[in-house]
Amino acid sequence: MSPSKIIKEIKQTLPTDVQLVAVSKFHPSAMIEDAYAGGHRIFGESHVQELQQKYEVLPKDIEWHFIGHLQTNKVKYIAPYIQLIHAVDTHKLLVEINKQALKNNRIIDCLLELHIAQEDTKYGFSADEMYDYIKQGEWRLLENVRICGIMCMASNVEDKTQIASEFQQAETLFNKLKKDFFAQVDSFSIRSWGMSDDYMIAVNHGSNMVRIGSKIFGPRVY
Ligand SMILES: *Cc1c(COP(=O)(O)O)cnc(C)c1O
Repeated sequence: MSPSKIIKEIKQTLPTDVQLVAVSKFHPSAMIEDAYAGGHRIFGESHVQELQQKYEVLPKDIEWHFIGHLQTNKVKYIAPYIQLIHAVDTHKLLVEINKQALKNNRIIDCLLELHIAQEDTKYGFSADEMYDYIKQGEWRLLENVRICGIMCMASNVEDKTQIASEFQQAETLFNKLKKDFFAQVDSFSIRSWGMSDDYMIAVNHGSNMVRIGSKIFGPRVY
């Protein structure tokens, strides 16, 4: 089946308030064009150089999301056009995004990455760290970035109960942050969790933005 057909099928199974990010990393622009022709506009990439190449050749009304780990020295390349940066994991990175956004006369939307999975991937705030970071408030000085919510990845395990419990922790943290710091801020609304193998669990535990790659485009060849 073509990417556009699969996207259509997935959208039919998602609640209407859940956005689908089609994760196109490691897949050629031709596959993105197929999805685009079917009407899809939101695509996720996780490598700056690959995103740059695709951005240059593909239609300019694509909404590009950066979903991977972003190095500070690469922010400048995507700052002119990126719509949402999902995995902000340090204040230093947010400062750099703010600086590059200012240079481009933009406000860049960002999510904070919650580290919740058991395997020790290196990146992301713990729930307590994220709460303290938001509470401490230094980010408020950064006027060219807007913190719109949180993202996370569940552990890569079979145990659906564990995955559900991890997403539930993310939802609980989101709700606490919303209540304590963003109650009046409508833009703080994005809960980015759920991938090919666990997105239905994710939407049952608070996700309103799923990032789906291999289910749409097939296995990645690295
Ligand atoms: C690659 C990737 C995805 C998509 O994963 P699939 O299992 O192929 O759906 C989602 N989120 C992040 C952060 C990724 O790096």
